[in-house]
Amino acid sequence: MRIGYGWDSHEFAKGVPLKIGGVEIEHTHGLAGHSDGDVLLHAVTDALLGAVAAGDIGNYFPPSDPKWKGADSAIFLMEALGKVRDAGWEVCNVDSTLILAAPKIGPVANRIRQRLAELLEISPDEVSVKAKTPEGMGTENAAIAHVVVLLERHEDHKKLEVAAAMLEADNHVDEVVKELIGEVKMPAKERAEKK
Ligand code: MG
Repeated sequence: MRIGYGWDSHEFAKGVPLKIGGVEIEHTHGLAGHSDGDVLLHAVTDALLGAVAAGDIGNYFPPSDPKWKGADSAIFLMEALGKVRDAGWEVCNVDSTLILAAPKIGPVANRIRQRLAELLEISPDEVSVKAKTPEGMGTENAAIAHVVVLLERHEDHKKLEVAAAMLEADNHVDEVVKELIGEVKMPAKERAEKK
């Protein structure tokens, strides 16, 4: 099993649509910054990359590259998911916590869970989205996301591991048989000396 952790924050700005977890939410402000500013998808992407020790979102999609300005953050998540699968893992479940003063996440939490589940190709039961307000933290003008993911070995990878173990055991048996045949073929004198 593998665990991954991701964290991200974005500042609220006027005149930008608000996107969290791949869902557009009605609000006076959106999240500024890299791509579409989807703080939750960025944290999920980092958690996936972290779980397979494949660096972070900035390595693949640097904010300095104008190519990613306004980009759909689902692209980043899909790239990270590809890395997870290439390494022979699959997503078990995701847990997340958003910290923001407004808007209320409760009414849209299920839509976000649904969208995340769709992107990660898992069930919404395996995706948790929780939200808190930044009591005493002084981060009212930002949205923050914390995410953990758990990975397990992909079924195909498990089968490959079993096959490799069986092959190794088989080779070992071959070696023992060869050694025994060698001993039997050895002249009696040599065998006695060996002992
Ligand atoms: Mg970000």
